[in-house]
Amino acid sequence: QAKTEGKGRVSVFTPSMHRAARERMNLVSELRRALALDELEAFYQPIVDLRTDRVAGAEALVRWRHPVRGLLAPDTFLDAAEEGGLMVELGRWMLATVIGQIGRWTRELTLPDSFRVHVNISPSELRHGDLAGYATALLRQEGVPGARLTLEITEALLVTRDHVVDENMAALRAIGIPLEIDDFGTGYSSISYLQSIPAQNAKIDRSLTQELLSQDRQCRFVGAILDLIHTAGMGAVAEGVEERAQADVLRSLHCEYAQGYYFSRPVPAETMRGFLTGSRQLPGTADDV
Ligand code: C2E
Ligand code: MG
Ligand code: MG
Ligand code: MG
Repeated sequence: QAKTEGKGRVSVFTPSMHRAARERMNLVSELRRALALDELEAFYQPIVDLRTDRVAGAEALVRWRHPVRGLLAPDTFLDAAEEGGLMVELGRWMLATVIGQIGRWTRELTLPDSFRVHVNISPSELRHGDLAGYATALLRQEGVPGARLTLEITEALLVTRDHVVDENMAALRAIGIPLEIDDFGTGYSSISYLQSIPAQNAKIDRSLTQELLSQDRQCRFVGAILDLIHTAGMGAVAEGVEERAQADVLRSLHCEYAQGYYFSRPVPAETMRGFLTGSRQLPGTADDV
């Protein structure tokens, strides 16, 4: 925008910067209002067990049903949530919503024993407050065991890891909530991360999954990453599976779980319920022959 300013003028704060800052502040206050008015919604993306070809769980992903702009994806508002100090509140809303949903599904359906819902946790949620205490109260209220959840954490956590983060992770493990390393393979300290975080699973980033078709070399590369995860004593989930052939390669490489548009996009809770009751089928799974 600086180009449109007059020659030789020194303008540190241009009108467009004012506008951007104002828009950001509007977004933060709108998001605060959205949390109060319950405009957020949890979508669910099925996770398939590649050994049995059955639904093994789902990842909960936040959406915002904006009254004017329609359904918004998290990349349009999570930065504003972080900047506006709303991340902890948003995370707590999400956890309460998901645990409430698991409670309803448990009462109304026969869930497979191994079914879990994976919830993304931002670093700030592990850094501020008593996440484990909050989760325990919700789980008790709904009569849901901690093992019905998995909390997904990213490498960004390591940058500011401190004793509060470690205490929160230990406390979550103590109440039986598994942890999962998200977006594995995208950061630069990934390998040491595998050994220093008390996680049960690692989720391979979709940038690695998506190349699987093209090259034999890529298959061996992902195979080596899977060996690494298994050697660390963890299970592996692959995200971003968009084609059947990718699921087949992952299965042959002994990857336990997969999720992606090939099976299903993230869907509202009602649609996810259909996958759980069998009234809806996922492509490539046991019931779809
Ligand atoms: P993520 O945790 O890595 O989630 C996977 C993202 O990949 C989701 O995007 C999902 O819709 C998308 N995806 C799944 N399968 C495929 C596929 O086959 N192809 C492609 N191209 N994409 C696929 P989404 O829902 O937009 O979420 C983006 C990110 O926002 C998430 O990445 C996560 O980091 C963050 N996020 C979402 N919900 C929450 C939340 O409740 N709390 C926190 N802290 N972060 C969240
Ligand atoms: Mg995730
Ligand atoms: Mg991920
Ligand atoms: Mg990702």
